[in-house]
Amino acid sequence: MIQKPELLMPAGNFEKMKYAYAFGADATYLGIPMFSLRARENGFKRETVIEAIRYAHNLGKKVYLTANILPHNHKVAPFIKYIGQLLEEAQPDAWIMSDPGIIMMMREHFPDQEIHLSVQANTVNYATAKFWEKAGIRRIILSRELTIREIKQIRDYCPDLELEAFVHGAICIAYSGRCLISNYMSYRDPNQGTCSHSCRWQYKMYKKEENQPANWREEAQTAGIEPAVTQQGDSYVPIRGDYYLEEVDRPGEYMQLDEDENGTYLMNARDLCAIEYLDELREAGVDSFKVEGRNKSVYYAALIARAYRRAIDDLAAGRPFNPENITDVFAAANKGYIAGFLKGNPGRSAQKYDGTRAEQPAYRFAGIVRDYDAARGWMKVEPRNPLRPGMELEMLTRDTTRTLKVEALYNIDGAPIDIIHGGLHYCYIPVSSPPEPFTILREKTAEDFAPEHVELSRGCVENANEPCGCNG
Ligand code: SF4
Repeated sequence: MIQKPELLMPAGNFEKMKYAYAFGADATYLGIPMFSLRARENGFKRETVIEAIRYAHNLGKKVYLTANILPHNHKVAPFIKYIGQLLEEAQPDAWIMSDPGIIMMMREHFPDQEIHLSVQANTVNYATAKFWEKAGIRRIILSRELTIREIKQIRDYCPDLELEAFVHGAICIAYSGRCLISNYMSYRDPNQGTCSHSCRWQYKMYKKEENQPANWREEAQTAGIEPAVTQQGDSYVPIRGDYYLEEVDRPGEYMQLDEDENGTYLMNARDLCAIEYLDELREAGVDSFKVEGRNKSVYYAALIARAYRRAIDDLAAGRPFNPENITDVFAAANKGYIAGFLKGNPGRSAQKYDGTRAEQPAYRFAGIVRDYDAARGWMKVEPRNPLRPGMELEMLTRDTTRTLKVEALYNIDGAPIDIIHGGLHYCYIPVSSPPEPFTILREKTAEDFAPEHVELSRGCVENANEPCGCNG
């Protein structure tokens, strides 16, 4: 077991990888073209994969290559050939794989290569973990549907295996890889790396009625909502909406199907955030804390790396959890956080029925500092949202948060301007001292933000009023 758990961040492209390391990642994972999930959002070509491995190793960091699609026959030989060609030029620290046949061939052709079993393989018990250990797997990336107690049991049975657990990011409404919604909705197969995230789309529902008047919506609205009731203990609670599902063995449990002004979101899972549970996960024997989000922004890579870096360092030093770390996780776009299955089945709290968009984050990504003009004392900024003179920004690095009043704004030619919008243009902002490399800018957008928000989104075992029958 690794003494200090590793922080493993996603790298959707080379830039995100650099920021993840600069803000505290010990390792990153990135996809090899064509043979990894997130194939469509992958910013790496063969040459950049090689360059990225060299970059990481020069920093003394690790890099794992994801090669976790389930290849059909015609992809098997090119898959193995591609790996062989890549290994002639660079040596990753491990390969993340899921297909048993490809893993077997990998062991035969390249026995020295370390293999981590992808979450796509859905390891949910110690027997499966043992099986893969005997097959030469060094590390298991645990299924996201495990409780901390179950992880501990797997550790007890498999003391020599490395265990990796997701601690942050989007989650599927199915076991990873066991989902065909995207195939059905857009002919894009999640297991070939082309998921269209159809589970998070906005769905509209219509009811066809005989002789339905053209203005039936207005009429329904005027008539008001017909109340339906369900039983909770001794009291009857009205529930809103027009259409409900009722499962025959659960009388009185009406599942709302109607749409509001946002539409209908039946399958839209909230995001995982386990930053408050790292101590328990380490205690359970987890060696690597993994963050999801290869297609998220540089800002996400930086902020989430910083929050978990600080939390892990505090943990290793025996310091108590600092609630300020939660500021950073809420400063990145999210769909509302839950603790996943770590404390038990999250039940209804796992779903976000009222929209697919992110919760309004407490901060907004303002820009990236790209350069510094020492002669004028101006930093060159790539804006990601509108910037104006007079606004207050925060300058973030891994270890510091500096406030900055934007006294003036200049365009790339040095002329004063009143506003610049996010995009490809650059601008200059005067600063009193040189910015550190990899500085990110953000703007606070919610004055009343309070870190304890995450407390409200814990799993069902924390909410005695909403038992779900889980085994957590
Ligand atoms: S459609 Fe949704 S549940 Fe299915 S694989 Fe894609 S993200 Fe996961």
